[in-house]
Amino acid sequence: MPIQIKSLTLGPFATNAYLIADSQSGNAILLDPVDDAPAILAAAQAEGWTIKLMIATHAHLDHVLASAAIKERLNVPFYIHEECAALLDEIPMQGVFFGLGELPAAAQPDRLLTSASETIALDSIRLQSLYTPGHAPGHLSFYLAEHKILFSGDSLFAGSIGRTDLPGGDHALLMSSIVDKLMILDDDVQVLPGHMGLTTIGRERKTNPFLLGHFDDLP
Ligand SMILES: [Zn+2]
Repeated sequence: MPIQIKSLTLGPFATNAYLIADSQSGNAILLDPVDDAPAILAAAQAEGWTIKLMIATHAHLDHVLASAAIKERLNVPFYIHEECAALLDEIPMQGVFFGLGELPAAAQPDRLLTSASETIALDSIRLQSLYTPGHAPGHLSFYLAEHKILFSGDSLFAGSIGRTDLPGGDHALLMSSIVDKLMILDDDVQVLPGHMGLTTIGRERKTNPFLLGHFDDLP
């Protein structure tokens, strides 16, 4: 079934929010309620889409800042991994840490996802969670297997990987998440990350400097 994806790059950290819509029903999942609720709501409205659910890849402030405002406006459920709960409660403190002043609290989650791969369904959309911690506790990537599209959050970027110097970061864990959960996907899988532009699994396998040496059997 056809789906449509719209990306928005918002906020001081230039973070990507993704609207994933079922083309037929117009119902959409918001992946990462980034920064600016009015901008996200306007984008959905412009497409004629109705946001039915919001999911966060992890609980860094730039990925969840619009969650409370969107929930207040649309009353949609909010999903995040269970290990994100502590960081999620600290969004106002994260704002102070990053010099952004007092920020509003994030929305309370309605469902806590686990480390087991789960499929989140909305109409024809089948979004599979992949547990990819290391950049932040409880970080999840999401895979649309039917469409070969991976939303990698802040784990894998075009030519880079997520930072691991923030509280709860773990470089070795991030590397094993990327190698064991993401790089097992086919080369032609498109990767839509939480920052910067898109890439493919194949391109990162061949050229990502952080992954070189992991795939020495390549020609
Ligand atoms: Zn992050």
